[in-house]
Amino acid sequence: CGIVGVTGTDKSLSILIDGLKRLEYRGYDSAGVYVNDQQGHDYLVKRSGRIANLEAALSDDVHGMAGIGHTRWATHGEPNEANAHPQYSQDERFYLVHNGVIENYAELKKEYLSDVKFVSQTDTEVIVQLVDKFVTESGMSTEAALLKVLRLISSDSSYAFVLMDKEQPDTLFVAKNKSPLLVGVADGYNMVGSDAMSMIKETNTFMEIGDHELVVVKPDHVIVKDFDGNEVDRPTFKVDMDA
Ligand code: GLU
Repeated sequence: CGIVGVTGTDKSLSILIDGLKRLEYRGYDSAGVYVNDQQGHDYLVKRSGRIANLEAALSDDVHGMAGIGHTRWATHGEPNEANAHPQYSQDERFYLVHNGVIENYAELKKEYLSDVKFVSQTDTEVIVQLVDKFVTESGMSTEAALLKVLRLISSDSSYAFVLMDKEQPDTLFVAKNKSPLLVGVADGYNMVGSDAMSMIKETNTFMEIGDHELVVVKPDHVIVKDFDGNEVDRPTFKVDMDA
């Protein structure tokens, strides 16, 4: 299972696919991508089985300036197309990739989302529907809504999350707890990935993400905040590896 995200380049789709292939060694049962071209077009493509199946399903018009990709190792819901990630909100505004397990997803679903129609059996869909609910019903910003959701997730849960909002299509909202994820700083665009190897073709400059941080990744800058909303100064580091 693995995650790749990118923002700020028209090569986004090929960067995602290449990154996912570099994460294949971790094992997976399905794969998917969401890309947004920031001109009003976005594309969600998911397939069970190999990344080759996903690639075969990508028609020529699928393209984007930013996007997220995922390989899934099913924990909640069988490995099929509906349960593959990205998972999305009912109104198709928010898209989320997740590695890990949300231990209290059933409680959250019961408490907040009894009126929502679910299309998957995943724990992940609860999280993306909840972000959407807080944004659309309370008028919160996406960042504030995600922070609120992160605080509701039980501490025994594990996650690496990358969230995209159709209304802010150049932004990746990122958080982790116990599952690996780091930022890659490239020339004119930025990335996130489960490991450095998934990004090494694009950059050798990285930024660590700590548990209980919310990271906002834009094409030209990265902001790291703690759960109280305070900005954290995070240095970059370089890794020398052959791509
Ligand atoms: N728990 C999530 C699911 O079953 C994510 C699994 C993973 O880590 O890939 O969909």
